[in-house]
Amino acid sequence: NDYNIKRLRYPSRTEQVPLDTSSLSVVRDPNKCILCGLCVRVCKEKQGIGVWDFKNRGSRTQIIAAMDQSLADSACINCGQCIAVCPCGALSSNSSIAEVWAAIRDPKKTVVCQIAPAPRAALGEMFGLGSVDVTGKIVTALRKSGFDKVFDTVFTADMTTVEESNEFLGRLTSGGKLPLFTSCCPGWVKYAEEFHPELLENLSTCRSPQQMFGSVLKKKYAKDLGITPEEMFVVSIMPCTAKKYEAKRPEFMTDGVYDVDAVLTTVEAAQLFKEAGILFDNLEEGIFDQPMEQTTGSGVLFGTTGGVMESVVRYVAGKLLNAEGRIDVEFTRGLDDTKIADLNVGDTKLTLAIVNGLAAAEELIKKIQSGELEVHAVEVMACPAGCVGGGGQPAQNDRKAR
Ligand code: SF4
Repeated sequence: NDYNIKRLRYPSRTEQVPLDTSSLSVVRDPNKCILCGLCVRVCKEKQGIGVWDFKNRGSRTQIIAAMDQSLADSACINCGQCIAVCPCGALSSNSSIAEVWAAIRDPKKTVVCQIAPAPRAALGEMFGLGSVDVTGKIVTALRKSGFDKVFDTVFTADMTTVEESNEFLGRLTSGGKLPLFTSCCPGWVKYAEEFHPELLENLSTCRSPQQMFGSVLKKKYAKDLGITPEEMFVVSIMPCTAKKYEAKRPEFMTDGVYDVDAVLTTVEAAQLFKEAGILFDNLEEGIFDQPMEQTTGSGVLFGTTGGVMESVVRYVAGKLLNAEGRIDVEFTRGLDDTKIADLNVGDTKLTLAIVNGLAAAEELIKKIQSGELEVHAVEVMACPAGCVGGGGQPAQNDRKAR
């Protein structure tokens, strides 16, 4: 070999266990596991699911997906909270970096990127710039890395607000399943499918902002550029590992072409910039491509718990009151697991709930289903604090680029 080693005096006695790469979101390398049990705990206590569990005892202890299943076959909702707490890299995101480089190097592909709200401060922290909004630098870094067009997912977060608010108003005034549950968190959607199929009709029919943008890009923007959907490669930068799973759901494919081709987590985007040799702090501020660069502050709120509800309430209140201008809503703010409030909007009395973490969602669902609580709309985000606490974000104690 390169080091001229002829004999291994102390070969490893540890049995090498195969990696579980079955999930689109999470890769598990049992060989790195130190049995701290943090993944077991977060999945049970914060998410109320229990995908991970201990097997055997003493020196034979292992952590496995429940019932020895592969991760893809388990009830995993792809939120990646286990990645966020794993201290040794035994759990990591299923990286899409290689796929993105291949598309960038393919002369036949137009590579278009969209960025969600949550990664923009986290990337600043990872590159040592502190908790500041580095959107402009991210746009420049993406262009320098070879992306042809760069857009802001906030544009379709605004579209989600309009669509979801009108759906809510329709159900309020003309009848329809209430409470309306938000549908933009794919971790929550998978949880509802796995554990509460009876609630699926209550979920909003709106696509998530990621999937709305993918659809707009492949079905409209590709035509504007004079290319086919196959010639466009859409990449999302998301705080979220569940978005990788969402992008590959069969309902988000048209004529054999996915609306979103690859999802990079915030951590993967930082890695891509490092591989491109980009000195992030020296970059100038770039601006998003036109059209679709006009966005509102309301759409940015989607990055945190309460943000979707605040956007919807502002819009719905504006419609019900025929009011113009900004309507302030206070109860949506703050990081409590559960927030419930009564709101009088003209003659309409609304009870609204916001939860983050699926254990909190489960408690709320029990109260609604037992009749203890009557609500009109519920925002559910699977991750603590919402997408800013997503499984694709840098770990709290490791915000410098790894
Ligand atoms: Fe993804 Fe946000 Fe849902 Fe977490 S809360 S699973 S980051 S969409």
